[in-house]
Amino acid sequence: MNAEIIGVGSELILGQIDNTNATFLSKQLSSIGIDVYFHQNVGDNKDRLRDAVETAVARADILILTGGLGPTKDDITRETVSEMIGRKLVYDENAKDQLEVFFRDRDRPMTDNNLKQALVPEGAESFPNDEGLAWGSAVDHNGTLIIMLPGPPRELHAMFRSYALPYLTGQLNDHQEILSSVLRFYEIGESRLVEKIDDLLEQQTNPTIAPLASDGEVALRLTVKGSSREENETLLQEMKEKILDRAGDYCYGEGDKELEQIVADILRDNKLSVASAESLTGGAFANTMTKFPGASMIFPGGVVCYSNEAKQASVGVPKEVLDEHGAVSEETAEAMAEGARDLFKSDYGVSFTGAAGPDPMEGYDPGEMFIGIASPSGTKGHFVKIKGSRSRIRTYAVKQALYLLFQ
Ligand code: ATP
Ligand code: MG
Repeated sequence: MNAEIIGVGSELILGQIDNTNATFLSKQLSSIGIDVYFHQNVGDNKDRLRDAVETAVARADILILTGGLGPTKDDITRETVSEMIGRKLVYDENAKDQLEVFFRDRDRPMTDNNLKQALVPEGAESFPNDEGLAWGSAVDHNGTLIIMLPGPPRELHAMFRSYALPYLTGQLNDHQEILSSVLRFYEIGESRLVEKIDDLLEQQTNPTIAPLASDGEVALRLTVKGSSREENETLLQEMKEKILDRAGDYCYGEGDKELEQIVADILRDNKLSVASAESLTGGAFANTMTKFPGASMIFPGGVVCYSNEAKQASVGVPKEVLDEHGAVSEETAEAMAEGARDLFKSDYGVSFTGAAGPDPMEGYDPGEMFIGIASPSGTKGHFVKIKGSRSRIRTYAVKQALYLLFQ
């Protein structure tokens, strides 16, 4: 079984929004063993939408369209599809009732435009909309199941989970289980990791192994297909062991959570906190730590101290340390980390001082830095070197500190 997803809406084509509906649907479909082969995006244009649907119907077992089911003139999905497959549109009586009640309750007149949202192709299975008014549908056309779902993600998610997914699972006779898992690596580049598992990548069939690299981290997504969950778990476990045998030293975690989320969870679960004193990163660490709900529990605060004077005034780096060792030094990084820890009464203190580039600083090349970690068991300034642009150096520095925190 393979599927194709078409996102309908000019805002997708104009780059105003991302097609997050396709991302959501792809994940959902793969979890029930349906492979998604293509994503298409198309504007609110009848001819081009028709083209897209014709192309998809010729190659997919399941076609899911999202968007363009609303009441306005530019919502053309339902009309275009029904015309193309030669089925007229008929009212779903339950959908019509829902609309009538909705407008009656609000004392607002219901126009024909609104009524459009209760139309489905004749003979289709209809899907109620518990979060809005436009109903969805599923209909067979020459062996392709065409499913139309609303565009607003909240409506789409609810309709898919409550109605389309159970319907699809019912339609699948050769039901296959899919299980996937992500291994996360740090301090090893994608190419070096791939080199270590080259033969496994060559032979991969089930599980498949997909490397993904982003901002200094590398992840491997393993996906296995089979008839039972137990069999899948065994296959996945065997492959994980083979990979960890070769690159286990670099693996810091498993699952969909990124490094920053893992660190935030460790802090929260253990009722620990971290504070920062940032020179090189200019607040990027604080920005990362405050992304999470309930951040004040794990991150009481941080200071940005760029000049030497600021390093002294904010986190009390002794003038003698700065004079003797310079701002970019192990000693200054350690004093900053301890200063942040004292100032905010946190369990850990993190600091950054170094050359963000493009110019060298105090004899250090761009990307060379010290990251200070003050913890209940002691303080250490780590020398770190990161290659790349100024912004890459700062992003990677934050990652590196998160990694060092619990080494
Ligand atoms: P409505 O009844 O709101 O008009 P609709 O089914 O006609 O719903 P659209 O008009 O195409 O859907 O889209 C409504 C809104 O939903 C868009 O402005 C956009 O914010 C969001 N949306 C639509 N398609 C997508 C998509 N593929 N991914 C993410 N968001 C989307
Ligand atoms: Mg619309």
